[in-house]
Amino acid sequence: MKIGVLALQGAVQEHARAVEAVGAEAILVKRAEQLLELDGLILPGGESTTMRRLIDRYDFMEPLLAFGAAKKPIFGTCAGMILLAQRINNQESNHLGLMDVTVERNAFGRQVDSFETDLVIKDVADDFPAVFIRAPYILDAGPAVEVLSEDTGRIVAARDGHYLATAFHPELTGDTRLIAYFRNMVEEAARAKV
Ligand code: GLN
Repeated sequence: MKIGVLALQGAVQEHARAVEAVGAEAILVKRAEQLLELDGLILPGGESTTMRRLIDRYDFMEPLLAFGAAKKPIFGTCAGMILLAQRINNQESNHLGLMDVTVERNAFGRQVDSFETDLVIKDVADDFPAVFIRAPYILDAGPAVEVLSEDTGRIVAARDGHYLATAFHPELTGDTRLIAYFRNMVEEAARAKV
Protein backbone atom coordinates (compact mmCIF):
# COMPACT_ATOMS: atom_id res chain seq x y z
CA MET A 1 0.00 0.00 0.00
CA LYS A 2 1.33 3.39 -0.98
CA ILE A 3 0.57 6.50 1.04
CA GLY A 4 1.84 9.80 -0.30
CA VAL A 5 2.84 12.88 1.65
CA LEU A 6 2.39 16.14 -0.23
CA ALA A 7 5.97 17.39 -0.19
CA LEU A 8 5.69 21.01 -1.25
CA GLN A 9 6.21 22.48 2.23
CA GLY A 10 5.85 21.61 5.91
CA ALA A 11 6.29 18.59 8.19
CA VAL A 12 6.92 16.06 5.42
CA GLN A 13 9.67 13.74 6.67
CA GLU A 14 7.96 13.11 10.01
CA HIS A 15 4.81 11.91 8.25
CA ALA A 16 6.82 9.71 5.89
CA ARG A 17 8.49 8.05 8.88
CA ALA A 18 5.10 7.51 10.56
CA VAL A 19 3.69 5.94 7.37
CA GLU A 20 6.62 3.52 7.16
CA ALA A 21 6.22 2.71 10.87
CA VAL A 22 2.71 1.33 10.21
CA GLY A 23 3.87 -0.85 7.35
CA ALA A 24 2.88 1.20 4.31
CA GLU A 25 5.17 2.61 1.66
CA ALA A 26 5.67 6.37 1.95
CA ILE A 27 5.96 8.40 -1.24
CA LEU A 28 7.12 12.03 -1.13
CA VAL A 29 4.84 13.71 -3.66
CA LYS A 30 6.50 16.54 -5.56
CA ARG A 31 4.80 16.17 -8.95
CA ALA A 32 1.09 15.74 -9.59
CA GLU A 33 1.61 12.60 -11.75
CA GLN A 34 2.79 10.79 -8.63
CA LEU A 35 -0.76 10.92 -7.24
CA LEU A 36 -1.80 8.27 -9.76
CA GLU A 37 0.18 5.53 -8.03
CA LEU A 38 -1.13 6.29 -4.51
CA ASP A 39 -3.80 4.63 -2.37
CA GLY A 40 -3.99 7.50 0.13
CA LEU A 41 -2.52 10.94 0.71
CA ILE A 42 -1.43 13.07 3.66
CA LEU A 43 -1.53 16.87 3.55
CA PRO A 44 0.99 17.89 6.22
CA GLY A 45 1.12 20.81 8.62
CA GLY A 46 3.00 23.93 7.65
CA GLU A 47 1.54 27.14 6.33
CA SER A 48 -1.71 26.77 4.41
CA THR A 49 -1.39 29.95 2.33
CA THR A 50 2.15 29.03 1.28
CA MET A 51 1.09 25.48 0.48
CA ARG A 52 -1.82 26.78 -1.58
CA ARG A 53 0.50 29.00 -3.57
CA LEU A 54 2.71 25.99 -4.34
CA ILE A 55 -0.33 23.84 -5.20
CA ASP A 56 -1.25 26.41 -7.83
CA ARG A 57 2.29 26.91 -9.09
CA TYR A 58 2.89 23.17 -9.60
CA ASP A 59 -0.59 22.44 -11.06
CA PHE A 60 -1.76 20.26 -8.19
CA MET A 61 -5.29 21.67 -7.81
CA GLU A 62 -7.18 19.59 -10.38
CA PRO A 63 -5.28 16.35 -9.66
CA LEU A 64 -5.91 16.72 -5.91
CA LEU A 65 -9.63 17.27 -6.48
CA ALA A 66 -9.70 14.24 -8.78
CA PHE A 67 -7.93 12.20 -6.10
CA GLY A 68 -10.68 13.05 -3.61
CA ALA A 69 -13.43 12.46 -6.19
CA ALA A 70 -12.00 8.97 -6.79
CA LYS A 71 -12.78 8.25 -3.11
CA LYS A 72 -9.13 7.86 -2.21
CA PRO A 73 -8.57 8.78 1.45
CA ILE A 74 -6.91 12.09 2.34
CA PHE A 75 -5.62 12.98 5.81
CA GLY A 76 -5.04 16.67 6.51
CA THR A 77 -3.10 17.71 9.61
CA CYS A 78 -3.14 21.30 10.85
CA ALA A 79 -2.48 23.40 7.71
CA GLY A 80 -3.60 20.29 5.79
CA MET A 81 -6.94 20.46 7.60
CA ILE A 82 -7.30 24.08 6.44
CA LEU A 83 -6.61 22.96 2.86
CA LEU A 84 -9.35 20.31 3.12
CA ALA A 85 -12.04 22.54 4.64
CA GLN A 86 -15.02 23.75 2.63
CA ARG A 87 -15.17 26.94 4.70
CA ILE A 88 -12.54 29.12 6.40
CA ASN A 89 -13.98 31.56 8.91
CA ASN A 90 -13.61 35.23 7.89
CA GLN A 91 -12.13 34.26 4.55
CA GLU A 92 -13.99 34.43 1.29
CA SER A 93 -12.44 31.54 -0.54
CA ASN A 94 -11.40 28.05 0.47
CA HIS A 95 -8.63 25.84 -0.92
CA LEU A 96 -9.58 22.25 -1.86
CA GLY A 97 -13.01 22.52 -0.22
CA LEU A 98 -13.44 18.76 0.15
CA MET A 99 -14.53 18.35 3.76
CA ASP A 100 -17.80 19.68 5.14
CA VAL A 101 -16.35 21.75 7.99
CA THR A 102 -15.67 25.39 8.84
CA VAL A 103 -12.22 26.01 10.27
CA GLU A 104 -10.84 28.89 12.25
CA ARG A 105 -7.15 29.56 11.65
CA ASN A 106 -4.61 30.25 14.41
CA ALA A 107 -7.48 29.62 16.73
CA PHE A 108 -5.82 29.06 20.05
CA GLY A 109 -4.53 32.62 20.37
CA ARG A 110 -1.11 34.23 20.41
CA GLN A 111 -0.43 33.46 24.06
CA VAL A 112 -0.43 29.73 23.44
CA ASP A 113 1.40 29.46 20.16
CA SER A 114 1.97 25.80 20.71
CA PHE A 115 1.08 23.28 23.38
CA GLU A 116 0.78 19.58 23.97
CA THR A 117 -2.16 17.79 25.53
CA ASP A 118 -3.54 14.26 25.85
CA LEU A 119 -6.74 13.70 23.89
CA VAL A 120 -9.50 11.14 23.80
CA ILE A 121 -9.91 10.22 20.12
CA LYS A 122 -12.87 8.02 19.21
CA ASP A 123 -11.83 4.59 17.88
CA VAL A 124 -8.15 5.56 18.26
CA ALA A 125 -6.97 6.28 21.82
CA ASP A 126 -7.93 7.54 25.30
CA ASP A 127 -4.65 9.32 25.81
CA PHE A 128 -3.27 10.48 22.49
CA PRO A 129 -0.36 12.94 22.84
CA ALA A 130 -1.34 15.83 20.56
CA VAL A 131 1.04 18.64 19.58
CA PHE A 132 -0.68 21.88 18.55
CA ILE A 133 1.37 24.50 16.64
CA ARG A 134 -0.43 27.74 15.74
CA ALA A 135 -3.30 25.37 15.22
CA PRO A 136 -6.71 25.82 13.67
CA TYR A 137 -9.81 24.11 15.00
CA ILE A 138 -13.16 23.11 13.51
CA LEU A 139 -15.86 25.68 14.29
CA ASP A 140 -18.69 23.63 12.88
CA ALA A 141 -19.15 20.40 10.99
CA GLY A 142 -21.84 19.20 8.60
CA PRO A 143 -24.29 16.42 9.57
CA ALA A 144 -22.29 13.66 7.89
CA VAL A 145 -19.08 14.55 9.70
CA GLU A 146 -18.05 12.36 12.60
CA VAL A 147 -16.40 14.31 15.40
CA LEU A 148 -13.56 12.18 16.71
CA SER A 149 -12.07 14.47 19.32
CA GLU A 150 -12.64 17.74 21.16
CA ASP A 151 -10.35 19.79 23.34
CA THR A 152 -12.15 22.12 25.77
CA GLY A 153 -15.21 22.18 23.54
CA ARG A 154 -13.36 22.71 20.28
CA ILE A 155 -13.40 20.05 17.57
CA VAL A 156 -9.81 19.00 16.88
CA ALA A 157 -10.26 15.74 14.96
CA ALA A 158 -13.01 14.71 12.56
CA ARG A 159 -13.82 12.34 9.73
CA ASP A 160 -16.04 12.99 6.73
CA GLY A 161 -16.26 9.73 4.78
CA HIS A 162 -12.83 9.19 3.25
CA TYR A 163 -11.47 12.49 4.59
CA LEU A 164 -9.74 12.72 7.98
CA ALA A 165 -8.49 15.89 9.63
CA THR A 166 -6.71 16.85 12.82
CA ALA A 167 -5.92 20.32 14.16
CA PHE A 168 -2.77 18.95 15.75
CA HIS A 169 0.38 17.21 14.51
CA PRO A 170 0.08 13.45 15.15
CA GLU A 171 3.42 12.72 13.46
CA LEU A 172 5.67 14.49 15.96
CA THR A 173 5.50 12.14 18.92
CA GLY A 174 6.13 8.64 17.59
CA ASP A 175 2.63 7.52 18.66
CA THR A 176 1.41 5.69 15.56
CA ARG A 177 -2.20 4.95 16.55
CA LEU A 178 -3.75 7.74 14.47
CA ILE A 179 -1.70 7.01 11.36
CA ALA A 180 -2.64 3.34 11.82
CA TYR A 181 -6.29 4.43 11.84
CA PHE A 182 -5.70 6.27 8.55
CA ARG A 183 -3.88 3.27 7.08
CA ASN A 184 -7.00 1.21 7.87
CA MET A 185 -9.15 3.78 6.03
CA VAL A 186 -6.83 3.48 3.03
CA GLU A 187 -6.93 -0.32 3.19
CA GLU A 188 -10.73 -0.34 3.31
CA ALA A 189 -11.02 2.08 0.39
CA ALA A 190 -8.60 0.00 -1.69
CA ARG A 191 -10.52 -3.17 -0.88
CA ALA A 192 -13.85 -1.56 -1.79
CA LYS A 193 -12.44 -0.85 -5.24
CA VAL A 194 -11.48 -4.42 -6.12
N1 GLN B 1 -1.21 28.42 11.22
C1 GLN B 1 -0.95 27.61 10.07
C2 GLN B 1 -1.91 27.96 8.93
O1 GLN B 1 -2.82 28.70 9.09
C3 GLN B 1 -1.09 26.15 10.41
C4 GLN B 1 -0.02 25.75 11.39
C5 GLN B 1 0.42 24.32 11.28
O2 GLN B 1 0.19 23.64 10.28
N2 GLN B 1 1.14 23.87 12.29
O3 GLN B 1 -1.72 27.47 7.85
